Amino acid sequence: MAIDVSDPIMDLIARDRAVLWHPYAAMPMAFPPLAVASASGNRLRLEDGRELVDGMSSWWAAIHGYGHPVLDAAVRSQVDDMAHVMFGGLTHRPAVELAELLVGITPAGLEHVFLCDSGSVAVEVAIKMAVQYWAGRGELRQRLLTVRSGYHGDTAGAMAVCDPDTGMHHLFSAMLPRHLFAPTPEPTFGKPFCTDHIAELAQLLAHNRDEIAAVILEPIVQGAGGMRFYAPAYLAALRALCDEHDVLLIADEIATGFGRSGKLFACDHAEISPDIMCVGKAMTGGYLSMAATLCTREVADGVSGAEPGALMHGPTFMGNPLASAVSLASIRLLLSGPWCDRVVRIEGRLREGLGPAKGLANVADVRVLGAIGVIEVREALPMAAMQAVLVEHGVWLRPFGRLLYTMPPYISTDDDVDLIACAMVSVAEQVGVVR
Ligand code: PMP
Repeated sequence: MAIDVSDPIMDLIARDRAVLWHPYAAMPMAFPPLAVASASGNRLRLEDGRELVDGMSSWWAAIHGYGHPVLDAAVRSQVDDMAHVMFGGLTHRPAVELAELLVGITPAGLEHVFLCDSGSVAVEVAIKMAVQYWAGRGELRQRLLTVRSGYHGDTAGAMAVCDPDTGMHHLFSAMLPRHLFAPTPEPTFGKPFCTDHIAELAQLLAHNRDEIAAVILEPIVQGAGGMRFYAPAYLAALRALCDEHDVLLIADEIATGFGRSGKLFACDHAEISPDIMCVGKAMTGGYLSMAATLCTREVADGVSGAEPGALMHGPTFMGNPLASAVSLASIRLLLSGPWCDRVVRIEGRLREGLGPAKGLANVADVRVLGAIGVIEVREALPMAAMQAVLVEHGVWLRPFGRLLYTMPPYISTDDDVDLIACAMVSVAEQVGVVR
């Protein structure tokens, strides 16, 4: 596409395309990005003056919207004290208070916190904890069992437990460890579960238990691997199987944590506690990159009680004070407000607003859980054309493949949620013509 560089906005986009990679994109990107000048509340203001209603929360993270005064103040106040100090041998109040708060609100039994710099790293740390736990017990267990349609991040360890077809396995198969994959969790949320649904996983677990360090999966909501919602009874049955076969359970709550699915953590739908849990994304309210891996006392003791006597991970920006302070402020803000009512209200509006898509020939499924709405179409959608329709409606969404989805900030008004839903239905209606 020819870009008019005499226009300052087009010049910015041309400069972007000359030097910057974007997520999952070619160099340069197939079509130009939108340039954002500022963001506040649930509005993104573009360089050209247009304003878009945000339906993405910047990939699950900005649950309170942008430029929230409480979070802005937390960052400003922390920067006056210190932006960063190393965490090796040093500690600070924001990290300690954040860890205590996380232990207090996550499922029972999770008592220890490793602060990571991103969700993918939190998954790497979870895997290391599991492997070192077994090493501490004198067992070489280095395989993981997971389910299809999962997504856990883009670093090597995390990639190896993403869905082997929708993930990127085939590109890296020779360098990735080969783990065990059970079928996609069934039934879908709200449908009755029976043990047949988990029989294949149970068999894999029984046959390979001596090699398996942990089962890892996203509880209830499978995000980037398919935007699927499955029955809490499946997760409860999985917890029981892990106990029966003495295998650790890792819950990846990076997308679901902090209220998104209608419960504070998705594990709460099944009333289970994992042995290891990863949180991230909404933890900082979308301000900075930080995640955490929590574990039980038993896991921590197993890791620490044997050679080398330490968890072998320690990133440069571990426990970053700015990110810790804003996480603390974000979680306190969430807990002090009516987050649950807000999520329930968004869920209701999404159900109503996306309903009309159900009758469309191109639509395979419409599903809503908590503040997550999905229209799954039958054919992959042409991104550039879709984006144009969405922007015309004044909405920011980032669909992928056959999935049009939204997870708006919890502060979104009814009108904003209606607008997002209307834009999604409109795109679904036009699929097949907007090629
Ligand atoms: N796990 C899940 C469930 C995720 O949704 C993501 C991010 N999309 C990750 C892990 C990786 O997190 P990050 O992008 O912060 O590395």
